[in-house]
Amino acid sequence: MRVFKENNNIFRLLSEAVSEGIIVVNKEQVIVATNGFANSIFGYATDELVGKHLDVLIPPKYHHSHSVHFNSFVANSEKRHMGKGRELYGVRKDGAEFPLEAGLNPFTIYGTDYVMALIIDISERKQQEKEIFDLNTKLEHKIEERTQELHDTILELKEEVRLRKEAESRMKESLKKERDLNDLKTKFLSMVSHEFKTPLGGILTSATLIGKYTTVAQQDKRERHLTTIKNKVKYLDNILNDFLSIERLESGKVNYKFSKFPLSKVINEVVYNANMLLKDGQRIRYPQDIDEYTIEFDEKILELVLSNLIHNAVKYSAENTIIDVQVHFKEGILTFKIIDQGIGIPEKEQKFIFKRYFRAENALLDQGTGIGLNIVKSHLENLGGRINFISKENVGSTFIVTIPIESVNYHS
Ligand code: ADP
Repeated sequence: MRVFKENNNIFRLLSEAVSEGIIVVNKEQVIVATNGFANSIFGYATDELVGKHLDVLIPPKYHHSHSVHFNSFVANSEKRHMGKGRELYGVRKDGAEFPLEAGLNPFTIYGTDYVMALIIDISERKQQEKEIFDLNTKLEHKIEERTQELHDTILELKEEVRLRKEAESRMKESLKKERDLNDLKTKFLSMVSHEFKTPLGGILTSATLIGKYTTVAQQDKRERHLTTIKNKVKYLDNILNDFLSIERLESGKVNYKFSKFPLSKVINEVVYNANMLLKDGQRIRYPQDIDEYTIEFDEKILELVLSNLIHNAVKYSAENTIIDVQVHFKEGILTFKIIDQGIGIPEKEQKFIFKRYFRAENALLDQGTGIGLNIVKSHLENLGGRINFISKENVGSTFIVTIPIESVNYHS
């Protein structure tokens, strides 16, 4: 202690030049010297701290642990930075606590040990650190909020894109339908001019001739022409029905009606109508033992399918041939086979046969629109059925239709 008193001026001179607070204590932790900075950090007047226990500068709650640290420090006696990994606090004269940083330097003068502590008040730095920390936290929150907002916006955009795509594909679909229908109408007009001309000419001739047969004896001639007229009207009616069918299929307006009906009713009707179209010596062979079969299906569609296939078989076969109609039921599948001995379908054209308006080269001499098979296939597929064929040019064709039927009921 005396050393510092005696050399007060030297100590002061040296220590005032340092920009840190300096506190020197002896082994008993009694303060022996301070510099101006230390006094002003802790709020004391010059030399007011000298002779006081170091504890006056340490918040009471740290007194005990500080003493332990101090003693072990003095025992080890090495220069070091104090409070590594810990927050250090000092207490001012007015009782206010503040954070500080301290570097400790032990030294010995004239055989007495001292410790010099270099003190920096880090309140301001801590405050700045806290502000930075608060700012960072705020920023992080803001980023989180923005990220969430961005995420929400992306979701909204995705939904918007999805809705737009949906609307676009709906629009494309309806545009396509409109185009197809327009196309259909154009085709219809050009086909009407071709396909309707011949039968209408035939009807006109027959009607004119009927007018000329005036006697009772000519009744059979009149009847023949009436049959021709009926057939040609039926033919034109079929074409119109086909077109209406396409329009309904295209615009999705088909309503299938399921009902229970005897299979023989449809077959007899179709065969009856087809018989009127037979060429000389042609014959339709059809099952006679199906009177008791009752099935549940769309009757009109079954009629359309069978009459299309049987009419084709008649149309594309020569005189004196047989058209075979076969019906089988096995494991929930009803199968129809329409077998002819006609012109057949050239192999290279077989893959196009269900395409709308397609007509094979060898069929062009016969009248036709190329619509029938296309409609038949569409309806069948809509109802879970299928159509296939096997054909050989100049030998004949077999068209096979299968439809799922839960059961065929027999009634006696
Ligand atoms: P259309 O008979 O009015 O031309 P379809 O759609 O019924 O139209 O038939 C398409 C084409 O398939 C016909 O033009 C013909 O070339 C071929 N076709 C269909 N059925 C037969 C058959 N039984 N024998 C030979 N060719 C056939």
